Amino acid sequence: MPQQDDRSADSAEARRVQELRAQGVALIAGSVTDLAGVTRAKYVPVHRLGAFERSGMGVSPSWSVFCVDSGIAFTPEIGVAGDLRIRIGAERLRLIEDGIAWAPGDLHDQHGRPAPLCPRSLLAGIEQQAVERGLQIRLGGELECTMLSPDSGPASNDPWSPYGIRTSLDRSAFLVDLMTAAEKAGLAVEQLHTEYGHDQLEMSLAPASAVETADAVILARIVIGRAAARHGMKISFSPVPFAGAAGNGAHVHLSLADAGGPLFSGGDGPYGIRPRGGAAIAGVLDTLPDLIGVYAGSALSAQRLKPGNWAGAAACWGLENREAAVRFIAATPGNPHGANAELKLVDPSANPYLAAAAFLGSALRGIDRQLTLPPEIPEDPRRSEATPPPLPTDQRSAIEALERSTTAAELLTPPIIEGLAAVRRHELTTYGDRPPAETTQALRLAWSC
Ligand code: GLU
Ligand code: MG
Repeated sequence: MPQQDDRSADSAEARRVQELRAQGVALIAGSVTDLAGVTRAKYVPVHRLGAFERSGMGVSPSWSVFCVDSGIAFTPEIGVAGDLRIRIGAERLRLIEDGIAWAPGDLHDQHGRPAPLCPRSLLAGIEQQAVERGLQIRLGGELECTMLSPDSGPASNDPWSPYGIRTSLDRSAFLVDLMTAAEKAGLAVEQLHTEYGHDQLEMSLAPASAVETADAVILARIVIGRAAARHGMKISFSPVPFAGAAGNGAHVHLSLADAGGPLFSGGDGPYGIRPRGGAAIAGVLDTLPDLIGVYAGSALSAQRLKPGNWAGAAACWGLENREAAVRFIAATPGNPHGANAELKLVDPSANPYLAAAAFLGSALRGIDRQLTLPPEIPEDPRRSEATPPPLPTDQRSAIEALERSTTAAELLTPPIIEGLAAVRRHELTTYGDRPPAETTQALRLAWSC
């Protein structure tokens, strides 16, 4: 019988390869996103799909501590010896460009076990913890990015009008191509618009499971980047592409439900928030000072994360409050997805799997500890009498807070915290003393796909 199973597996694989070939696919890409938030990939010819799934493709352990430039932040545990494998699942393959199908990968060790430094496996584990608590979770990603010219300067010199019909129609061929490509790639786009910042674009994605959403964020970065390239542009996913200009956020929306229904509506708390929902938001706020280095920890993050930027720099929550780290969106007819909590302070330098793991893990921790929802800050915190405590946003403080935090280690594991602190410290050492304009230029394409 095992022989029979092997044969049917072989023939299923052969069929899959045949289907891919019929779609014109010659190359299979499998990527992992590292602790610095950079996505890296290996490719195989289409006939090697099975090997990419079963054994995976080899990468050195230093892939986990590659930095935003060509640096490698070796740690006592991570050196030049050893090998890891990127493994993909054929069911996750998406067409990203003529001839290329891509899938997000997991990092495994040589024995097929998830590697300790695999953020995707970490997120899957935390999502499983939610299921074990009888919770259904939905996460939704928003991507802000900046269109650039081929030489990585500004894409246009015309005056910009935020959300302007002109600024979007001026790029209509690109936007139409982008939507067509997104559909071909199976990317569930909800909305697209030109944003506030000069040449800034935003795409929002439909809610899905946590791992699916983080996968979709990477797919969206690839699809946007490739469509832009076909129209003579580059795309920056830097938190601050140009010094002093508007920043790019990577906001994440979370909704939770248990057997009694949604946690953020239908109850007796403010806007109908139920006690477990309040505890979840309290949990997210409680860990912010420790986890700022996960959400917005790059050499550029502090330049964005300031009051007045709608980046959620204040450690508080508030209904539709764009200056609050947690912007609460209530269940109203104007909101088809139901009540949710949007974590605004996340930027695109964060690994999306890790940011989601920190967000969800903190919400679960709040629920387990039955934390109390703090009072709402319903307006710009700078105008509020109850000023929220400042967050340690500068990179050195963010790294130190991460390293000190037993909560961060409990939620995200000590190896991940150690690796993350190492790659961010490399940035601090390399860029810490440089003028902002130099660093924004050096890292403009660091997180592009
Ligand atoms: N660009 C802002 C940020 O850096 C967000 C603007 C908005 O509210 O969409 O997060
Ligand atoms: Mg926006």
